[in-house]
Amino acid sequence: MIDEDELRAQIIDFARMLEPSGLSVNRSGNISARWKDGFLITPTGMVYEHLEPADVVFVRTDGAVAARQRAPSSEWRFHQAAYRDAAEIGAVVHCHSTHATALACTGRSIPAFHYMVAVAGGDSIDCAPYATFGGEDLARNVAAVLAGGRRACLLANHGQIACGADLDAAFALAKDVEELARQYVIALQIGEVKLLDAAEMARVLDAFTRYGRQDQTRD
Ligand SMILES: [Zn+2]
Repeated sequence: MIDEDELRAQIIDFARMLEPSGLSVNRSGNISARWKDGFLITPTGMVYEHLEPADVVFVRTDGAVAARQRAPSSEWRFHQAAYRDAAEIGAVVHCHSTHATALACTGRSIPAFHYMVAVAGGDSIDCAPYATFGGEDLARNVAAVLAGGRRACLLANHGQIACGADLDAAFALAKDVEELARQYVIALQIGEVKLLDAAEMARVLDAFTRYGRQDQTRD
């Protein structure tokens, strides 16, 4: 079992990977992990290169932030919603990665254009309607799209969110969402995109559930 200091250090490690991974445009993005009766999240307004474990902020599930901490990321409310609604979610990564954001700025979801879309837990990666960053309305919109076992969504005119059992899984999914978005944008530019049907996506989702994610090799 990981202790709190190790988890704080891991959150910082992943936050620092946002930029070199190409996920964080203009230093956007925030990362959290479930901890006890709440979650630990990157603070607002700090350069991630300079973070120390004590800068990571603990937010209780009810939204309470203890005194003598830094202020949490302004976008903590949709992290809170993700943990509240799905016990199996252990970490959340949010970023404004270029292609996911570009699609989200057209209001598009990512449909079943490729079987790997199922990696996010459904036959599409849907776009949550726009609401101002940091607000309850955005958290509500995100919760509605993630309901039913979805693990990622786009945010209209904003970016993307990816969730996972742990930080590794959530970060890997954020990278998958960005790559799928990139492929879909290219396919749209070429012409008519052929989508997989519901029966095929159900087969893929069933296989992913039974065999788990194929992190190392993907056929
Ligand atoms: Zn954002």
